[in-house]
Amino acid sequence: FRGADREVRALDAFDLKIRSGEFLSIVGPSGCGKSTLLRIVAGLLRPSGGTVTIAGSRVERPQTAIGFVFQSPTLLEWRSVLDNVMLQIEMRGLEPAAYLDRARSLLASVGLAEFENAYPRELSGGMRQRTAIIRGLIHDPPLLLMDEPFGALDALTREQMRIDLETLWLTSHKTVIFVTHSVDEAVLLSDRVVVMSPRPGRIERIIEIDLPRPRGIEARDAASFTQATRAITEIFLARGVLKRGAG
Ligand code: ADP
Ligand code: MG
Repeated sequence: FRGADREVRALDAFDLKIRSGEFLSIVGPSGCGKSTLLRIVAGLLRPSGGTVTIAGSRVERPQTAIGFVFQSPTLLEWRSVLDNVMLQIEMRGLEPAAYLDRARSLLASVGLAEFENAYPRELSGGMRQRTAIIRGLIHDPPLLLMDEPFGALDALTREQMRIDLETLWLTSHKTVIFVTHSVDEAVLLSDRVVVMSPRPGRIERIIEIDLPRPRGIEARDAASFTQATRAITEIFLARGVLKRGAG
């Protein structure tokens, strides 16, 4: 990024191939370029160097075959849950009638069947974020980009969202790039976790997660969960992102 008085190098070497249908997480400290990376993948930001290719085509403009979910659900307060989901269809000039059943069944799959006519102010934080996730999936994009989607939720809601997102992913076969600060969340959700360095963000290590799916609450008890989270924590300790406490 070039500003009037300074230049910020947000990202550095980041070479990665993501498999179709893979759930890939990116963890790294605040400011290491995670959101920048997602925006480049989505074609919302032009990189000063390097290329992104999705399904064989080079990304040179904003991509339409993606879903994007942000930390804030960004719902329209004057639209119902269903109409917030359908906004995606309207903005794309698609035929709403053709997507209504799909919208309802996706909402039902995340426990919002009875809330399709509710307004955002009537929903909990978790329900709002579920609505935003369904809005990101309604047009059936092959690629879903998620930028700290559970960052604003309380710990219990977050754990449930993590479990529900896996269920949704297991039935939808999407490719997901999931950005998070949470080491646990990354390990529990992913096929692979990319650990990033502090800015300028580089790939520090890629960790394969071999936990069986579905990964319910019990997945936290598995030895490979502990191994993977410990490996990631060690990287952050070595890079000064985390500091050891006394004792
Ligand atoms: P993360 O999502 O990992 O917290 P970001 O990708 O948002 O990090 O930001 C990476 C770095 O790039 C930060 O230092 C940030 O200040 C800078 N940056 C991000 N967006 C812009 C922008 N539009 N203009 C200038 N600098 C930016
Ligand atoms: Mg960010």
